[in-house]
Order: sequence, then C-alpha cells, then structure tokens
Amino acid sequence: MTEDAHARLRQELADLHGALVEAALVVWTAGNVSARAGGGHFLIKPSGVPYGDLTPESMVLCDLDGNPVEGQQLKPSSDVFAHAYVYRHRPDIGGVVHTHSTYATAWAARNEPIPCVLTAMADEFGGEIPVGPFALIGGEDIGKGIVETLESHRSPAVLMRNHGVFTIGDTPRSAVKAAVMCEDVARTVHLSRQLGEPFPMEQPDIDRLYDRYQNAYGQ
Ligand SMILES: [Zn+2]
Repeated sequence: MTEDAHARLRQELADLHGALVEAALVVWTAGNVSARAGGGHFLIKPSGVPYGDLTPESMVLCDLDGNPVEGQQLKPSSDVFAHAYVYRHRPDIGGVVHTHSTYATAWAARNEPIPCVLTAMADEFGGEIPVGPFALIGGEDIGKGIVETLESHRSPAVLMRNHGVFTIGDTPRSAVKAAVMCEDVARTVHLSRQLGEPFPMEQPDIDRLYDRYQNAYGQ
C-alpha cells in the first residue's frame, strides 16, 4: 500500500467512526471499526478515545496478531484481538465493525437470532442474523466465535451473546453498512413482535432476494 493510499484509509476509517455516531449505533467510547491495511496489517480505533477526538492519525496500525506496530502513539481498542482473528482467518474480509447498538444487542441479551422476516433482511443478510457464543474480551475467543458462527450463515453480522454486534465486509464501509442495517432490522422485527409473531418468509423467496440484491442491485 502506498503512503497516499494509507493516508486515505486512515481518513476513511476516521470518517466511518463518525458514521457510527451519526447512525446512533454507539455511545461514549464503545464500538470500533477496523480496516485491513495490506502488508499483514490493519488499522483500528484507539482504546478509550471519545469519538469526537478521533483523527486519521489516531488510528492504530497493528499486525495480524493484534500487536501495534512500533511507533504508534496510542493503544489499540481492547477488541483488537477479535479483529485480528477475523483478518487472519478470513482473507476475503477488509473491514470489521463492533457496536453495542441498542435493539440488536437486546436480541443478543436474549441469546436469540433475528429471524429473516423482512425483504431488507433477505437482501443484506440472506437469512437470520445468528447469535455467537458468549466470550470474554481480550483473548481470541470473540474472534473465534465470530468466524465459526458466520461460517454457516450468509449474514455479515453476528450477535455475540450477552455482548453486542460484530459485522464484517469486503471493505470497512460495507461492514459499517451491515452494522447500520443490522440495527435497523433488529428494531423493526422487535416492534413487530410486540403485537404478535412476525410472519415467516419462504426460503426460496429469501434466496431470490439475496441473489438479486448481492448481484444485480445498484449502479
Ligand atoms: Zn463490546
């Protein structure tokens, strides 16, 4: 990656953290976005820095074991090892997002996957949004839970039990989009539940919607 491309990625990553705030997916210093930076490295939010203080320069460059590269001024997010695990085991992934967004995390608190009962869910997630195992922060368990849970799902989002949301994407921007959509459908399906059981969708319809959205939708 050239120096210019690296600087642009730092700027994009800082902007994407702003997008989490704008979409009201994060409070205080919780949540983070990372971006694969090439050469066996990725950039991630610094630990404990308020969103309003994030700058392109404050993003922390780490190796794929989650260790900051020499010369970084700030410590990486405490979720750095979860992100590192995903990048090591999913070479197709270019971005990872973590939030405790309210409605999605309410499903995680109940250990309940979000059923695919909306066309928007079929489009983006291709089925239910699954729940991953409970895991304590700091080691590899969260990353392992993310990768193993998503292996058997088309969803780019996983609800980690009693914790919150992790999303993945081929780019950091698509991972942020998945985090925004995840919260949106979590809220809608939750509201639908208040007055009854959401009506199920047929699997062939889910498949067709997913295929069209992933392959034909947009410009
Ligand atoms: Zn968390």
